[in-house]
Amino acid sequence: AEAHVEAVAAAKALNAFLVETPDHVLAAADAADQARAAGTLKPLSGVPIGMKDLFCTVGVQTTAASHILEGFTPTYESGVSQRLFDAGAGMLGKLNMDQFAMGSSNETSAFGNVISPWRRGGGDNAALAPGGSSGGSSAAIAARLCPAATGTDTGGSIRQPAAFTGISGIKPTYGRCSRWGTVAFASSLDQAGPMARSVRDCAIMLEAMAGLDPRDATSLDAPVPAWEQGLNADLKGKKVGIPREYRVESMPAEIDALWKRGAEWLQDAGAEIVDVSLPHTKYALPAYYIIAPAEASSNLARYDGVRYGQRELPDGANLQEMYAATRAAGFGPEVKRRIMIGTYVLSAGFYDAYYTQAQRVRALISRDFDEAFAKVDVLLTPTAPSAAFALGDKSDDPLAMYLNDVFTVPSSLAGLPAMSVPGGLDDAGLPLGLQIIGRAMDEQGVLNAGLALE
Ligand code: GLN
Repeated sequence: AEAHVEAVAAAKALNAFLVETPDHVLAAADAADQARAAGTLKPLSGVPIGMKDLFCTVGVQTTAASHILEGFTPTYESGVSQRLFDAGAGMLGKLNMDQFAMGSSNETSAFGNVISPWRRGGGDNAALAPGGSSGGSSAAIAARLCPAATGTDTGGSIRQPAAFTGISGIKPTYGRCSRWGTVAFASSLDQAGPMARSVRDCAIMLEAMAGLDPRDATSLDAPVPAWEQGLNADLKGKKVGIPREYRVESMPAEIDALWKRGAEWLQDAGAEIVDVSLPHTKYALPAYYIIAPAEASSNLARYDGVRYGQRELPDGANLQEMYAATRAAGFGPEVKRRIMIGTYVLSAGFYDAYYTQAQRVRALISRDFDEAFAKVDVLLTPTAPSAAFALGDKSDDPLAMYLNDVFTVPSSLAGLPAMSVPGGLDDAGLPLGLQIIGRAMDEQGVLNAGLALE
């Protein structure tokens, strides 16, 4: 614990942590010493973890990397962080992220970019994006500041940063982890999950994080399997689907090569590789970028300068003017863009054309997956269409940024478990990720295929 506290303090240049909480992690280490002596060690006793700043933590500032929540210190603990602490984990601090989890590069944080610890080879020293929105989590793990961290994934925010930094991360089935006390982005999509250096560590973390929470109406009432114990990299008798629609136009050759290599590795582990079709794939990204902003515009209505964080109160302002001034000053540009898109697609006259239509598309995408999973056990795809890009490369072009989510968004819309594991390096020496998508509730199948790739 002490070594990790020192490593975090020494790595300020990465800007991965927004708040450091050394006392928390050292207290957990002491508790672990006592538990060891008493023979009552818990699964995560004394393990120093990082906490994405989307999880409310008692007495520790929680901002979702937005100025509008600056100074907000929750009086309640999120369901996920509480479970991790109950399992013995200690918190090193709160991790930087894209503001309200909106982004794919961590550049929308109000508190500065996170910088990936990776660099391209050949003397190219450009600072690279750690992915997003869980970019503080991915950078901290890749830089060995913590062995594991929490992430959240609405459209890829665990998997894409894991891919960009050469680590593993799993978004479980929607409802596995409590959303209670997690700052909401798009409630029908938001799902917490672990990020770590290995598939096994992800399984251990997920077991601690998952489970029914009656305070979250969409929490799944299902037992949490012993995923770590169930790990098995032998895929004999398993079928792995390769969805042909993911072979998008302009896919770089190195991503295609990565995908083929992944399929060969799974074949070596005993799996049969099957060609499958998910015909509505190309509509997933547009549907996501209607549904997620629609839900965000509604969820973010609560930041009004009255109940949380910052308030802007110009001289003589009335209530309406106070709301407007607070939101204008408190939200970053990407958050405002999402609120405007979301408000537009939900407005009278446009609701049916955009929002209802996107929900119909969502149903078709789920049906595609159902049909595929009647034939195969898991699907294999690349996690992202490229390796990490340089900071600033896409920050002026929202559409280019949104395209990064092309492979992660469909399984989010369908609520399915999906994981990214390292799949080797590209020509510049940067990590690439392979994605495994599974049937609802079959995290074990996903983890096992991930293990076979590791
Ligand atoms: N990059 C996607 C977005 O900006 C996904 C974010 C997420 O999963 N939180 O919406």
